[in-house]
Amino acid sequence: ETVVNRIAAGEVIQRPANAVKEMIENCLDAGSTCITVSLKSGGLKLLQISDNGHGIRKEDMEIVCERFTTSKLKEFDDLKSIATFGFRGEALASISHVAHLTITTRTKDSKCAYKASYLDSEFIHRVYCKLKGAVRPTAGNIGTQITVEDLFYNVPTRRKAFKSASEEHQKIADVMTRYALHNSGKSFTLRKMDQDVSAGVSVRTQLGSTHVTNIGTLFGSNVGKEVIQVDHFDPQLHLKVGSCQSTTYASFVTFTINGYVTNANCSIKRFLFLLFINNRLVECTVLKKALDSLYQTYLPKGGHPFVYLSLEMPANNLDVNVHPTKHEVHFLHEGTVVESVEKQVEAALLSCDS
Ligand code: ADP
Ligand code: MG
Repeated sequence: ETVVNRIAAGEVIQRPANAVKEMIENCLDAGSTCITVSLKSGGLKLLQISDNGHGIRKEDMEIVCERFTTSKLKEFDDLKSIATFGFRGEALASISHVAHLTITTRTKDSKCAYKASYLDSEFIHRVYCKLKGAVRPTAGNIGTQITVEDLFYNVPTRRKAFKSASEEHQKIADVMTRYALHNSGKSFTLRKMDQDVSAGVSVRTQLGSTHVTNIGTLFGSNVGKEVIQVDHFDPQLHLKVGSCQSTTYASFVTFTINGYVTNANCSIKRFLFLLFINNRLVECTVLKKALDSLYQTYLPKGGHPFVYLSLEMPANNLDVNVHPTKHEVHFLHEGTVVESVEKQVEAALLSCDS
């Protein structure tokens, strides 16, 4: 059973950056405003994430690493939104199957912090040290610190497949950069704790920062200076849903678009496309291609755009590839949605005199 769990866990957590994405989402779900990630060896040796969120209650520490256990079901009024992003309650359980996991956490009602270590989703101390108790009181601030050590120590083939700590570090920096921009106003910090990674990219955004300042900080001041805002020009997307005999059904979907894009004066080294749907970082190849070709009309030959978009729409209009690491999204009425996004971006491009 352990081996089966380990294989399943390896599907959810394929590399350190997947673990970071899941854990950042947990920090945000806990209402954190400061998130710090510290890495050794690109997260393979050490991956520690600290937040100032609401913490985990002592009595919940036993279950947080059990598979399919989540404290969040009650927060979803729409069951579909769970199904959409799938794999709820799997992240910490999966990590505990393929790494040494320690959680230190404190809620605002608690006088001290508590700490517990996990192995294969169970307390280590239940296995090794029954008498001492698994959850130990310790010093700590309100919030949660999750420490993941020696990722894939028990999956040697996977471990060996990681050629370069720098590459893993870079992938984590990419994920953090995206979340830091989307969650402007909150502070994100990425720290490198060793020399294994030479030119480790760092990420640092400040509390109270705006999207525009963060674009400058994270993607270069030239991009920050030139970006233009995409607004929800047309929040009600009119979708023809289908026809039944003589009646055509139409439905209105609340669909908002917000974001920032570079204008025609500013091209960058490669196409950067950051897409959040309902606050989750996702991929959408169809939309990416459409925007790339839209920009060909506006940018100098060989130029590339920066596009950051945040879309919000009812989850039942989305179809997410149910794979925990890919997050490729399709829209139910793909043509209409893509066209509508293209129109908004083009309107923004035309609105600024270049
Ligand atoms: P999910 O996020 O789908 O609930 P996870 O495995 O990612 O599942 O997390 C399990 C549970 O652990 C969460 O439901 C939450 O109660 C708790 N948890 C994890 N990370 C944090 C955090 N940073 N702050 C507060 N609670 C957390
Ligand atoms: Mg989670």
